[in-house]
Amino acid sequence: MTDRVVVAGSGIVGASAAYHLSIRGVAVTVIDRPTAGQATAAGAGIVCPWVDHDGDDAWYRLALEGARYYRRLAELLAEDGEPDISHAEVGALLVAEDPAELVHVEALLRGRRSSAPEMGAISEVDRPCELFPPLSPGLVALRVGGAARVDGRTVRDALLRAAVRHGARVLTGTASLTGSGACLLDGSPVEADAVVVAAGAWAGEVCGPLGHMTPVGPRRGQIVHAELPGVESAGWPIILPRLGPYLLGFPGSRVVLGATVEEAGFDSRVTAGGLAEVLAAGVRLAPGLADASIVETRAGLRPVAADGLPLLGPLTEGVVVATGLGAYGLTAGPYAGFVAACLVIGETPPLDVTPYSPARG
Ligand SMILES: Cc1cc2nc3c(=O)[nH]c(=O)nc-3n(C[C@H](O)[C@H](O)[C@H](O)COP(=O)(O)OP(=O)(O)OC[C@H]3O[C@@H](n4cnc5c(N)ncnc54)[C@H](O)[C@@H]3O)c2cc1C
Repeated sequence: MTDRVVVAGSGIVGASAAYHLSIRGVAVTVIDRPTAGQATAAGAGIVCPWVDHDGDDAWYRLALEGARYYRRLAELLAEDGEPDISHAEVGALLVAEDPAELVHVEALLRGRRSSAPEMGAISEVDRPCELFPPLSPGLVALRVGGAARVDGRTVRDALLRAAVRHGARVLTGTASLTGSGACLLDGSPVEADAVVVAAGAWAGEVCGPLGHMTPVGPRRGQIVHAELPGVESAGWPIILPRLGPYLLGFPGSRVVLGATVEEAGFDSRVTAGGLAEVLAAGVRLAPGLADASIVETRAGLRPVAADGLPLLGPLTEGVVVATGLGAYGLTAGPYAGFVAACLVIGETPPLDVTPYSPARG
């Protein structure tokens, strides 16, 4: 019997695992070390999996199911006293200067649409700046109606609050594993029948003593939050160029410009060079942002496995790993946490996790 589970890490994946375990009556202990660089706290919040992972079925399947799961999650959390998890289907505009740049992605979307109707209508937009006013007027776009945006912090906090209402306890400290899979909190044993390791880019450190996990590490992203005073940007579509920076609106007149993709180890600082890169590219794409106020900058460490695929599955008896979601963890994170919760208590998950084995070498 798996009655007591420790969840190591309380980013979006760990929070979701804790929530889904707690609603199944499991006694959950969440351990989180408040390390700088949590990816969930920095993430932009784009949920639009259908435009990526061409030719990578394993990744596409997880991201697809993750996006699909948001509606169910919103219902579950609403019933649990969390009526607004910030998930809003605002649509996305794939923008380009030349319509020819959109031909390939349009074919990809149309090919996927019958098996993913939630992507919504695909339509050409002649003047995307009418839908996202700061945008450069010379662009054309393809609209993906079902794309959504979320605030990672809001989703994470709603999941954790609901888990606590179902009896989960949340402790601060460093979780680690012994070579036999027993869990420690700051070096002292914690009573548990099993562990979910959702420690993001730091998962390798937690699982190190077990010795045979696919390596996972950090990929830094820096991101800028700007404000356009008096402008209601909450309903604006997500702006996705085929290459380069993206833009998305949030309530409170916010526009998010992101993000860098950097190999900087566990350095989670916001740097002058990172901000310069994001701002220059963002203002080039949307000159109307030149006068926006900069209200916040963030940096986070995306967890990325050595071979690029997520890690989701049992590592050893009583230890399930859920990480490596890279640039798609706000999309797939709640679903991955749900799958991890199923696996750790021996419930058959709704997804074949074979391709994501954390022990694949
Ligand atoms: C700039 C940026 C933009 C992004 N934009 C998007 C986007 O638009 N769409 C999308 O889908 N995804 C996006 N992502 C990716 C997404 O944010 C991540 O994939 C996701 O948040 C990872 O969640 P996680 O729970 O696995 O890890 P994290 O959120 O990093 O959480 C891991 C937690 O584990 C804790 N921890 C570490 N070691 C220990 C230990 N030993 N004991 C206890 N706790 C420990 C850490 O402190 C942390 O709190 C973005 C990421 C970044 C950085």
